[in-house]
Amino acid sequence: MTSASKVPLITLNDGTKIPQLGFGVYQIERNETYKYVSKALDVGYSHIDTAQSYANEKEVGKAVRDYNKYVFVTTKYFNPNASEHGYENAKAYFRKSFKTLGLDHIDLYLIHFPVIKNEVYVDAWKAFVELQKTEKLRSIGVSNFTTTYLKKIIDETGVTPSVNQVECHPYLQQNELRKFHEEHGIVTESWSPLGRGDVLDDKILKQIGKKHNKTAAQVVLRWHIQIGNVTFPKSVNTERIEENFDIFDFSLSEEEMESIKKLDKNERNGPDPAEFQFPDDFLEKRQQESQADQ
Ligand code: NAD
Repeated sequence: MTSASKVPLITLNDGTKIPQLGFGVYQIERNETYKYVSKALDVGYSHIDTAQSYANEKEVGKAVRDYNKYVFVTTKYFNPNASEHGYENAKAYFRKSFKTLGLDHIDLYLIHFPVIKNEVYVDAWKAFVELQKTEKLRSIGVSNFTTTYLKKIIDETGVTPSVNQVECHPYLQQNELRKFHEEHGIVTESWSPLGRGDVLDDKILKQIGKKHNKTAAQVVLRWHIQIGNVTFPKSVNTERIEENFDIFDFSLSEEEMESIKKLDKNERNGPDPAEFQFPDDFLEKRQQESQADQ
C-alpha cells in the first residue's frame, strides 16, 4: 500500500489544494459504490470524482463519512434541458447534491457540460460564482468547456474557473486547450485518463512500462501527473485500484515523455463539446432507465 502523502497537491486559483490523483466513479453501480470507494480510500486515494448524473452521490458520501478522514470530493451539475439549465437551477441542483452527499462541504463543483442554447451555461456560471460565496463550497470549475465557452464565462463574470475537466489521454492530448488553461491559471483535469482502456494495448506504452517494471496503465497515469494534470481513473477491480495508485515510485524520462507526446491522434471516446449537445430529455430518460434497472 502506498502512502497518501505521496500524491502531489496542486494549488487551484482560489488557493484550494487538490490531490493530483483521485478515484473516478462514473458507471460504478449504485449498490457497489460504497465498496469500491471504501477500497480506494483504504489504498490511499484522497480524492473522489462523482457527479449528480452518476446517481451514486449518496453512496460516495457514506463511504467518505465512514472513512473519517478528509477526502477531496468533486461533484457536477448536469441538466442538459436548455429551458431549465441556468441560474436558479444550478443553485437548486447544488443544494440537492450537497444534501445527497451528506458531507459538511463540497470541495469542487463543476458545470458538467455546457448547454449553449441561449448561452444558458453563462447563467449557470453566474450561479456558481454566488454559490462559492454563500454555500459550503470551496472551489468552482467547469467540464467539457472549449476555449470559446471559457472566454465567455470569464468575460461575463471576471471569475476564472479553477479547473476544466476534459477528455484527455495519450491519444487525445488536448495541447491547445491545455496551453489556454496554463495561460489563464486553469488546472486541466483529465477524464477517461486511460481512454477507457483503449490506449493500454499501445506498443510504445507497453515498452516504456517494461523498462520501469510497470504496466501501460501506470505509465499513462504517470504521464498525466508529469504533464501537470489532475486525474481519477475508474476501476471496479481491486487489484487495478491498487495498481493505478502505485505510480509514485518511478518517473518517465524526457525521452519517454517525448515518445508519448508523439502518440497523439486527436481521437475521442466521448462527445466533442464544440459540436455536441445532449437532448433536452436526456436526464429524464436516464433516470427512467436507472429506475427500471433497480
Ligand atoms: P478510464 O480511462 O478511467 O477507464 C476506465 C476503464 O479502464 C475501466 O472500466 C477498466 O475497464 C479500465 N481500467 C482501469 N484501470 C485499469 C488498469 N490498471 N489496467 C487495465 N484496465 C484498466 O475512463 P472513465 O471511467 O471514463 O473516466 C474516469 C473518470 O473520469 C470517471 O469515473 C469520471 O469520474 C470522470 N469522467 C468525467 C466525464 C465528464 O464529462 N466530466 C466523462 C467521463 C468520465
